[in-house]
Amino acid sequence: MNTVTLGKTGIVTNKNGFGALPVQRVDDQTAVRLLRRAYEGGITFFDTARAYTDSEHKLGLAFEGMREKIFIASKTGSVTPEGFWKDLETTLSNLKTDYLDLYQFHNPDFCPKPGDGSGMYECMCQAKEQGKIRHIGITNHRLLVALEAVESGLYETLQFPFSYLASREEIELVEKCQKAGMGFIAMKGLSGGLINNSAAAYAFMAQFEHVLPIWGIQRETELEEFLSCIEAPPAMTPEISAVIEKDREQLQGDFCRGCGYCMPCPAGIEINACARMSLMIRRAPSEAQLTKEMQEKMMQIEHCLHCGRCISKCPYHLNTPELLQKNLKDYKEILAGKPI
Ligand code: SF4
Ligand code: SF4
Repeated sequence: MNTVTLGKTGIVTNKNGFGALPVQRVDDQTAVRLLRRAYEGGITFFDTARAYTDSEHKLGLAFEGMREKIFIASKTGSVTPEGFWKDLETTLSNLKTDYLDLYQFHNPDFCPKPGDGSGMYECMCQAKEQGKIRHIGITNHRLLVALEAVESGLYETLQFPFSYLASREEIELVEKCQKAGMGFIAMKGLSGGLINNSAAAYAFMAQFEHVLPIWGIQRETELEEFLSCIEAPPAMTPEISAVIEKDREQLQGDFCRGCGYCMPCPAGIEINACARMSLMIRRAPSEAQLTKEMQEKMMQIEHCLHCGRCISKCPYHLNTPELLQKNLKDYKEILAGKPI
């Protein structure tokens, strides 16, 4: 079985981790079934967050009584010490446990350090001394904050978006983590749904021995696809290489990753669903993109105020309003039966 060691944490786990954001969208019973099936299939690392509504609660239900058999990572998005402790206590209670294997700052817009006045890194150290957390990590979508975290030597893991669509700078970040002895947790390994070949995604990740992808899993079919990769890991064959090259040609560059950090939008536009619509339709023609509900969401783009708030918050520096208008134009053409 392929395993990964998460840097100096010493955590050794299956090369596939479970990203528990999507289990928010299913009921308790379905979530428990998925999570237990994942464990039975060999997955032992589960990543959740205080911000993922009832995801922690569902993990708590699924794994009560078998805590020591799995690794649990969670996150706090708090920016005050009071919020930090409140989040941590809620998280531990939801998860029905008295410790986390890894606690991460959730996409802060700065890199918390001791003595920076925020008191946040000090909270992590205290929580570690108290035995409530075992390791300290950080997640981010901003390359500069991520680089600062690696260079600081303060963090045992970095969680960052990483897939075969990664830029050269992002691949360098992954390599820097390895040199620094940090574990690298790869989120968005399918680039938020744009990559639809799980074998290619898996084969790419397999090339980086210190990288732990956490696959965001909501359906049993998706889970079974990744579990089959555990049983028979896909290799980087010439066919898979060709798939990756083709996707890179089509997708690399200025595309919306669907992260949602530009939201909320004062005009009520669901930017993370709408700004990537043209790509979604091109890659996976699907009824789901053309439902009445989705059409209403897309038409909301017409009410854009051009306030620019989304531009200032997008970690990928996209011109979001422009991108939305382009997507709306493509969408209208699809609705009118024209090829895009
Ligand atoms: S520019 Fe348009 S899409 Fe962006 S935040 Fe303002 S109203 Fe929303
Ligand atoms: S426009 Fe930028 S911030 Fe907004 S969802 Fe897309 S990638 Fe994320």
